[in-house]
Amino acid sequence: MDMSENVKMEEMSWKELEEKMEGGKDTIVIMMGSFEQHGPHLPLYTDSFISDELGERIANKLDYALMGPTIPFGVSQHHMDFTGTVSLSDKTFIELVKEHCRAFDEHGFEFVALVPFHGGNFAPVKAAAPEIKEEMKNSKIITVADLEKNTEVMLESFKKAGIDYEEKPIHSGATETSIMLAIDEGLVDRDEMEKGYEGELSESELFTEGLRYFTENGVLGDPRKASKRAGKIMLEDLSQDLAERIDKKRKRSV
Ligand SMILES: [Zn+2]
Repeated sequence: MDMSENVKMEEMSWKELEEKMEGGKDTIVIMMGSFEQHGPHLPLYTDSFISDELGERIANKLDYALMGPTIPFGVSQHHMDFTGTVSLSDKTFIELVKEHCRAFDEHGFEFVALVPFHGGNFAPVKAAAPEIKEEMKNSKIITVADLEKNTEVMLESFKKAGIDYEEKPIHSGATETSIMLAIDEGLVDRDEMEKGYEGELSESELFTEGLRYFTENGVLGDPRKASKRAGKIMLEDLSQDLAERIDKKRKRSV
């Protein structure tokens, strides 16, 4: 792994990209974030900031991978009660993912890895994967979309950081706030950090009722338990785990 090598496609010219592909980069990692409320203390672009950071780290860990464009909008209907949220319908979101796959299939990538971070994107990506796979001429589609596994890895990092706090489900609480502190402290408004809903909550309840039904401030969990150190461990552990999952699936589909 060479940390100094640029893996971000958005910063490359088409010629540079072509050279990298000829040099063995055959896999593109497409991350999926959101543009949605993240409580009173985090920015609307939180999931996409985190996706950008994870994508770069993942591509750095896999010597055959490049980080493609992050899809900055997601399925966020359950956050629409909060100002600023943009939500795509399942149909539009899936079409957006497909168009990305079609483009990189045409450009000759051997593998396209689809990696959602925002919770609402997991189900549509999984549902759409089979038909996207069928449509591809050159590329094999790798889907790494296991929300529970992501949560597990992040909570484990918390323990490693010595913080005794279990957060489930995750939205704008200690977990995401820690990660944002690690990415850019200046984007976190510490004075606005307040506890949100901490009770049990199933995914289906969340998607049917919407977040505001459970939490007035849009937070699940407690951001006051966040730490920059935990965030750094989380970014490292989650990107390592996602990279390993991509690598495994890639080997299986060669
Ligand atoms: Zn989020």
